[in-house]
Amino acid sequence: MAEQEMTEEQVKALQEKLKKMSPEELKEFQKQQCIFCKIAAGQVASKKIYEDDRCIAILDINPANPGHVLLMPKEHYAIMPMMPEELLGHLARIAKGLSHVLLNSLKTEGTNIFIANGTAAGQRSQHFMIHIIPRKENDKVGIEIVSGKFDEKKINEAAKAISDRISGKELAKAETKEEKKAEENRKEKEEAEEKGEEEKKEETKKEIGLDDIARLFK
Ligand SMILES: [Zn+2]
Repeated sequence: MAEQEMTEEQVKALQEKLKKMSPEELKEFQKQQCIFCKIAAGQVASKKIYEDDRCIAILDINPANPGHVLLMPKEHYAIMPMMPEELLGHLARIAKGLSHVLLNSLKTEGTNIFIANGTAAGQRSQHFMIHIIPRKENDKVGIEIVSGKFDEKKINEAAKAISDRISGKELAKAETKEEKKAEENRKEKEEAEEKGEEEKKEETKKEIGLDDIARLFK
């Protein structure tokens, strides 16, 4: 898709518009702009290799290696901390399975499972995704963690900043609104199903008389 250049005024107008948006409106706007939302909705073609009700896995069109998989939620989330934990757990399980499939089907020697949170970390898409990259010895894929040299003071400062921030509470807070809502929906669904089962039992208990049958065929 060719992107059209925007004039300075158009950019300003858009920035103003974005500022005034509620978080819900902003999410909706991002969705409309997002190519991966369109792929998930089947509006844009892709090399789909897996799909369920919550996520989709496609082959990267610019792969680091053949079989480079992009696994993403169907719902639009920009970065990992925004995702409901339950959904993230689901994606992690699927990523594990896909990694295993790559190992067996492509006879790869390993996989990298890679997440970029933010442009500084190399994130190029606005839609959260997990890269699953099949690897072979000396394949020249550029994922390498090069150790830097830092003085002890800097490292200790980082350790302190992190541990000051980590407490049971802080991590528990990672639970998002969406997750609470999903949990509520799940409970409601379960209750409705249980109720349905009971009603079914009640119904079968009732004897079906000729009157009932006649009513059915009226
Ligand atoms: Zn999206």
